Amino acid sequence: MDCINIVDLEVYAKHGVLSAENQLGQKFLISASLYTDTTKAGLMDNLDYSINYAEVCKYISDYMTSHTFKLIEAVAENLVNELLLSYPLIRMITLEIKKPWAPIGLPLKTVSVKITRGWHTTYIALGSNMGDKENYLNDAITKINSDSMCMVDKASDFITTKPYGYKEQDDFLNAVIKVETLYSPMMLLDFLQKIEQEAQRVRHIHWGPRTLDLDILLYDDLIIDEDTLIVPHPDMTNRAFVLTPLNQIAPHQVHPVYGKSIHELLLNLSSQN
Ligand code: ADP
Ligand code: MG
Repeated sequence: MDCINIVDLEVYAKHGVLSAENQLGQKFLISASLYTDTTKAGLMDNLDYSINYAEVCKYISDYMTSHTFKLIEAVAENLVNELLLSYPLIRMITLEIKKPWAPIGLPLKTVSVKITRGWHTTYIALGSNMGDKENYLNDAITKINSDSMCMVDKASDFITTKPYGYKEQDDFLNAVIKVETLYSPMMLLDFLQKIEQEAQRVRHIHWGPRTLDLDILLYDDLIIDEDTLIVPHPDMTNRAFVLTPLNQIAPHQVHPVYGKSIHELLLNLSSQN
């Protein structure tokens, strides 16, 4: 991806663990790589289609002087988030904050923290088979979209499906949404589980009735195998109620494990049944 680089912007600010650092302040050097597509700005020779680096430098400088953190890790994390939220054209940022001559009682040139954060594309499956199902799904989509770390980009139709696994229960209402997010996969899972809990979801029977189920289907092309999170969702390829709405909004998306498009996976599943 194209990149706009800012190197060693000097800012005098008051971050540090020592009280002297918070009172007297010191010099910091900030470097930032702003990943964005510069094609249109380049072809049109028009700043409106790009990121104004003078403005970004002023933003960084103002942010660093108007806040006080103990750790430069915290400065970096918070500042990167604010930049990504304030400049929608930035897809990803690598930010380095250097503390020259950090006061550690030993001679050193600089200490620095360097982090990379950005927007990720994820697909989330929604399901409900208790109470006002449509309302549970709509409510969840509104909650996800109103969180500053998430933007709902596309939503499939809501489809009614027969129960899977445990059959003695009401029909489901299912949907899939495409979300751009700043959350890491684990943070996203926590966030979604909080929304499930707010819908008074009780876990009685595995695959049993629920007011709201939110599953992470895909997260970029990552493959994750942790105790509490498996991505791509291991059952998505066996479930027409997931592949059908996903196919509506992302037919050409490739499943990173099987190397097949969602459209192909849905055709395979239909031919098995
Ligand atoms: P299911 O969705 O299979 O009906 P639950 O919603 O009760 O079951 O989820 C059980 C557990 O599955 C959750 O506590 C969560 O930690 C785990 N899990 C693993 N991978 C995922 C994923 N991709 N999305 C959501 N939950 C997941
Ligand atoms: Mg679930």
